[in-house]
Amino acid sequence: MSYVHDTLATLRRSSPAQTEFYQAAEEVLDSLEPLIEANPHYLDQGIIQRIVEPEQQHFFRITWIDDQGRVQVNKGYRVQFSSALGPFKGGLRFHPSVTAGVIKFLGFEQIFKNALTGLPIGGGKGGADFNPKGRSDGEVMRFCQAFMTQLHRHIGPFVDVPAGDIGVGLREIGYLYGQYRLLTGRFDGALTGKGQDWGGSLGRKEATGYGCVYFAENMLAEREESLEGTTCLVSGSGNVAIYAMEKLIALGAKPIACSDSTGTIQDPQGIDLTALKDLKEKKRGSLEHYLEAHAQATFIPTDDYPVDGHAIWRIPAEAAFPCATQNELTKADADHLIGNGVRCVSEGANMPCTTDAVRLFIDARIPYGPGKAANAGGVATSQLEMQQNAGLTQWPATEVERHLKQIMAGIFQRASSTAKEFGQPENLVLGSNIAGFRRVADAMIQQGVI
Ligand code: NAP
Repeated sequence: MSYVHDTLATLRRSSPAQTEFYQAAEEVLDSLEPLIEANPHYLDQGIIQRIVEPEQQHFFRITWIDDQGRVQVNKGYRVQFSSALGPFKGGLRFHPSVTAGVIKFLGFEQIFKNALTGLPIGGGKGGADFNPKGRSDGEVMRFCQAFMTQLHRHIGPFVDVPAGDIGVGLREIGYLYGQYRLLTGRFDGALTGKGQDWGGSLGRKEATGYGCVYFAENMLAEREESLEGTTCLVSGSGNVAIYAMEKLIALGAKPIACSDSTGTIQDPQGIDLTALKDLKEKKRGSLEHYLEAHAQATFIPTDDYPVDGHAIWRIPAEAAFPCATQNELTKADADHLIGNGVRCVSEGANMPCTTDAVRLFIDARIPYGPGKAANAGGVATSQLEMQQNAGLTQWPATEVERHLKQIMAGIFQRASSTAKEFGQPENLVLGSNIAGFRRVADAMIQQGVI
């Protein structure tokens, strides 16, 4: 339809060199076609032009002093995409690959993800091209303080509530929140992912990984299958990957491989999660060190990866959970997974599968959970943290997990029933995009042209 072509042409002209953002926008706009065809009022109301343009974008300089006393400068971003359903909500990413285009792709996806949860939250995202790796605690603290000095004037519990993402875990949230409190004089829910003794929700750390596995369970249950006894590949070994593996093991599945930015570990006996947590959460070391206490395991360094993809997806297994980063699963990887008999793919990361890999999964009728549905458990639990902060209370972990399970089932039902409504019953990309978009678009129309 011409609106897809026209919108992408406008974006390429008005927001140059934002490749990941165009990729995310094209995927959503393409799958909206059946909805738009039946409901041309969305075009008449200018919803497409409005929704691809963030409400506000804040780009700022972050200056801080390293351990050698040198001045360092980084670029900071907060893209406030849509507040039609509630306060802007979405994580902060600290990674050298961060650009305006990356943050815009993540913020755009976040609008529909948050809408799909059924909760009152808008979409946003932020971050910086800062690399916490190899930096001392003091340097990370000074960077976080400088970042929040710029950000604090744009956030608040009813305005915009950032959380963690790649490179932003409990340590960084702690330093960011401390500076927010200092600058504003308020102890409120302006950030989520906080420590459990100072306003954090129990179960938040586990929520994205657990939720991604619950989503896979829902997809498989529809075919009267389950995860029990399945061999699994989980890329990454950060927050999402670790807790996806924890839930898989709890459900009787066997994660046999994981990865990080240095390479891939394959352990035929199943990943030893205690050792992995110690290595990645405490020591922050390379996965290669896993071999030291696990002689049966093998390590494939990134230099030895196939030219057209990633080693982890070439290992035969029944379920795949891409939980590291964007575009980490290519068409050639998808070909291998399908050839090896994969029965389910559930995305813990944002946009980890390339567009043509997704097409292959859908065409092969493999249950495929797109990130905006499958990894929404993290932001949903962040919203539960906002509810607890507003009520000055803390719920037990069992209650948070009960909510999470229900929310993931609700997201699956919304995506699946919408896919059925539009005649493509197994296409959860179409179902998620239309269900998320429709909720936001209807709210925008009801709130007038603003
Ligand atoms: P994290 O704790 O920082 O872990 C990221 C993991 O991915 C690390 O193991 C890292 O390797 C690996 N990685 C990063 N870039 C890579 C690259 N270019 N090649 C190979 N491996 C790479 O981050 P996270 O919170 O788990 O986030 C992972 C993904 O989930 C991201 O796409 C994020 O947007 C998405 N997500 C996160 C949440 C959340 O609640 N945290 C919620 C929704 C979606 P190293 O250990 O070597 O750095």
